[in-house]
Amino acid sequence: MPRVRAILISALLLSAAGAAELRAVDVYLGDSLRQLGASGLAAQKGDRAGSERHGGAGKPTLYAERDRDHVLVDGVKVMLSEPVGLLKGKLTVARVDYDKVLVPLFWRQAERRPVRRIVLDPGHGGSDPGKQHAKYNEKTVAFDTAARVKAALEKQGFEVFLTRSKDASLDLPARPALATKFGADLFVSIHYNSAGTNDTTSEGIETYCLTPPGMRSTNVAKGRADVSSEPGNRFDARNMQLAWSVQRHLLAATRGEDRGVRRARFAVLRTLPCPGILIEGGFVSSRREGALIGTPSYRQQVAEAIAAGVAEYARSVQPVAR
Ligand SMILES: [Zn+2]
Repeated sequence: MPRVRAILISALLLSAAGAAELRAVDVYLGDSLRQLGASGLAAQKGDRAGSERHGGAGKPTLYAERDRDHVLVDGVKVMLSEPVGLLKGKLTVARVDYDKVLVPLFWRQAERRPVRRIVLDPGHGGSDPGKQHAKYNEKTVAFDTAARVKAALEKQGFEVFLTRSKDASLDLPARPALATKFGADLFVSIHYNSAGTNDTTSEGIETYCLTPPGMRSTNVAKGRADVSSEPGNRFDARNMQLAWSVQRHLLAATRGEDRGVRRARFAVLRTLPCPGILIEGGFVSSRREGALIGTPSYRQQVAEAIAAGVAEYARSVQPVAR
C-alpha cells in the first residue's frame, strides 16, 4: 500500500527533523490529502488560528481550522474524533480521522454490484411515540417521511422496503434484522430530534454513522475511544460516504443548520449487514423547526433530499463496466 508507506516515511522524516514532533497517531492534513489526489488550494497561517483549504479536480474541497472538532467537506460539517492540530505551521489530524473520514471521502472505490435494494426504517412506532410535539409525534412524521422517500426512490428504480407498517411497534434489534431478511444493499433510519426541556431554539440536521473502532462517538464529550468492533463496522467507509451525501442534500434542500455528519453506536446501526445511516431531520422541540416538521411540504423536502443523497451515493460506487 503505497499511500500508507508514503505517510509513514513522511512521519519518519518529520520526527528526525526537530524537537516538535508529529505524534505517531497524527498525520499532516495537507500531505495526507496529497496522497489522496487533492492539492493545497489556500492556507492562511495566522499566529493563532491556522486554516487550510485543499481540493482539486474530481475531489471535494476540504476546509480545516486549528482546534476545530470538525472539517468542512464541500461545505458539509464532518465531525472528527480529535480536534485539528497545528505543528510547524501545518495542520494535523488524528490518523483515525484520516482513515475513517478523509480516505472514504477523497477515494471512492466501486462496489462489486450496484445498489438496488434499500431498507428505510421509520423511527419508533406503536407504543413508542418518539419525541413529542404539541401537534404530532415523531413516530408519525418519521413514517410519513419514510413513505415519501420510498416513493422518490422507487421512481428512480430502486427497490424499497420499510421496517414497519404504519404504526406498529418494533424493537431496535428487529430493524437491522429486517435489513438482513430483505437482502438490503443500504439501510436508512429516519428520525426527528429534540433538545432539553425549555430549549425551543436548538435546531438543525444530523446524519449519524456507526462509530468506527478507535474513534469517539460524537455525543460522548470525554472519555476513551471505544475499540470494539461491530458487524456494521465492516462498512465504515461506505457509511461515511452515504452519510456525507445525504447530509449535503438535506442541508441544500432545507437550508437547515448543519449539525454535522456524526458518529454513534446506535443499536439499529451496530448489526447491519450493509452500509447504513441514521438521520435526525430537524428538532421537533424548536419553535420554528418543530412547526416546519409538522408540514407535509417540509417532510417532502427532507424526503427528496434523502432520496437524492442515496442516489448520488449509489452512482458514486457504481461498478465499473467491463
Ligand atoms: Zn427518534
